[in-house]
Amino acid sequence: MSFPTELKVQHLSAGYTSKQGLHTVLAGISFTLGEEITSIIGPSGGGKSTLLHCLSGILSPSSGTIILGERPLNPRAHQIALVPQQYGLLPWKKVKANILLPQALGKRIVSEELQNSIIQTLDIAPLLDRYPAELSGGQRQRVALARAFIMQPDLILLDEAFSALDIATAERCRTLFLKLWESYPTPTLVVTHSPAEAVALSSRTLLISQGELLADLRYPQRDELESRLLYLNETLQ
Ligand code: ADP
Ligand code: MG
Repeated sequence: MSFPTELKVQHLSAGYTSKQGLHTVLAGISFTLGEEITSIIGPSGGGKSTLLHCLSGILSPSSGTIILGERPLNPRAHQIALVPQQYGLLPWKKVKANILLPQALGKRIVSEELQNSIIQTLDIAPLLDRYPAELSGGQRQRVALARAFIMQPDLILLDEAFSALDIATAERCRTLFLKLWESYPTPTLVVTHSPAEAVALSSRTLLISQGELLADLRYPQRDELESRLLYLNETLQ
């Protein structure tokens, strides 16, 4: 019997070291995430990407703990899929090799049958032999999603992953993302600057500003997120 995976973030602090010393960005953030999609919204520079960098192992926290599925987070042992804003595809590799990159990096990947099903769902079969430069933004985004799902991740992190797309393309990519997610539900954090996107993708939203978790909202209305964001942006100026 397998238990649902849970992400537990406790008192997480992190920052960046420079000649002036440590600049703290995240100031003790705590939350728990089940097999659900939760969005993160907040003013620019508030620490959203820094949080995802801690969760993906790019950045070591200065204090606090991160538990994923009963074990302390270990980017080598856990399967963590990060989809950045510019999709993170390797320009010198063809689409197929980009999708299979997790395998080249020693990650577990799904069976060939499931790979094909993911590729079909995302409608990228005709693109497998192309280079990323030969793709549109929406196509690149779908390739990045394929790479994320192919590793059957324990945790999915999307950092403004739909924001470079036009409205209709973003909408299509979000729909495909949700369809795949329903088949492979896992704890998922989606950073977005768009209240509409937060509401479209998730029923829970974390509001992060100046390195603090200000609110953990269940079923927020789009209007509520918009006015909170507006207020924060105005008070920070
Ligand atoms: P957000 O994603 O919410 O816009 P970030 O997490 O990217 O915010 O940034 C939070 C703060 O950390 C900002 O003040 C930013 O300038 C700083 N920061 C981000 N990345 C680095 C870095 N690599 N080195 C130093 N400071 C950084
Ligand atoms: Mg960011």
